[in-house]
Amino acid sequence: MSNRIYLDHAATTPLDENVLQKMLPYFTELFGNADSPHAVGRKAMIAIDSARDTVAALLNAKPNEIYFTSGGTEADNWALYGGAHAQKEQGKDHIIVSAIEHHAVLATAEKLEKEGFSVTYLPVNAGGRVELNLLKEAITDKTGLIAIMAVNNETGVIQPVVEIAKIAKERGVLFFCDGVQAAPYGKMDVKALGVDMLSLSSHKFYGPKGCGVLYIRGGVKVKGLIVGGEQERGLRGGTTNVPAIVGLAAAYEQNVATVSASNEKIARMNELFLQKLSDLEGVEINGEQEERIPSVLNVRFCGVNNADFVYNMDLAGVSLAAGSACASASIKPSHVLLAMGKTDEEAKECVRFSFGKNNTEEEIRRAAALTKEIVTRLRQSK
Ligand SMILES: *Cc1c(COP(=O)(O)O)cnc(C)c1O
Repeated sequence: MSNRIYLDHAATTPLDENVLQKMLPYFTELFGNADSPHAVGRKAMIAIDSARDTVAALLNAKPNEIYFTSGGTEADNWALYGGAHAQKEQGKDHIIVSAIEHHAVLATAEKLEKEGFSVTYLPVNAGGRVELNLLKEAITDKTGLIAIMAVNNETGVIQPVVEIAKIAKERGVLFFCDGVQAAPYGKMDVKALGVDMLSLSSHKFYGPKGCGVLYIRGGVKVKGLIVGGEQERGLRGGTTNVPAIVGLAAAYEQNVATVSASNEKIARMNELFLQKLSDLEGVEINGEQEERIPSVLNVRFCGVNNADFVYNMDLAGVSLAAGSACASASIKPSHVLLAMGKTDEEAKECVRFSFGKNNTEEEIRRAAALTKEIVTRLRQSK
């Protein structure tokens, strides 16, 4: 696989070698169950406590506000489902989610709707951003929870989280923010952001898959999602995944320490890639330009079917996606692009390049040249 070019970092990132080294002992000699009342178990619990302290400090939270989960999807499900049900006990059965949320949030909202909650799917503008005045109008005295992501995984567009948090607070509504795509590209401070809940996923910042975080601000009531054990302060049962949690903390720590340098590098890659495509006609960039993380580039190649493009790029050795990994196996146009006002036809001509810290300039040049070649070939073959 060594000369393949990987441009799908929004789907997942490779595990960092330093992180792997820190995880390895917890698969072998330090295999204990963190809840066992003996020395082997205590060693595992010490590692978990330390990971929790690390993540809490980096997020400007308290250790008892950090809950480890099996990933971003579980954290998103939990925040929305557990948050909504706790709010219902206060007589609030309306929730607001943006139309461009990850399926982990949208599918949970649909499930809540079937259970009798009322759900507002907040539209976005053509640039892919939530409009604050529409959010304000959508809030009623029945609204218990707002879920809006920090950065969209398909377009890279940044949402106005601080402003949303202010509105939510003023109106006494809980605010859950899916921070999964934002975490790799900036330090997240839960106090500065003003969020009540925040989700992270380890494999989006060069950590292991199957591990995530839900931050729940102290005092916020959320129902547990997984029952059957007293782990995670009784809210999330299941034997603690020690190696993954150790890896998550190590990966997040390394990410925060190196994020500004890698952002700069990634921004240069993005710029170089676009510059190399500048003589190709019929290229449109999706999403607001000013408020976008540098690692994600969503473009439309007019007249080129995205599935054909992705397939041909794959054959040529470049991995990228037509949209989010969870949806790209289907031929359905992206719900994010449709929410931004694209037609089905337009959305089916859009692809997502997502760059990472290990990409080289040489790879970007090669990927751009292959893109031009394949776009041109597919257009001619029509
Ligand atoms: C990847 C992703 C998730 C899901 O996280 P997993 O750990 O893969 O379950 C949720 N939200 C966003 C925005 C994502 O990009």
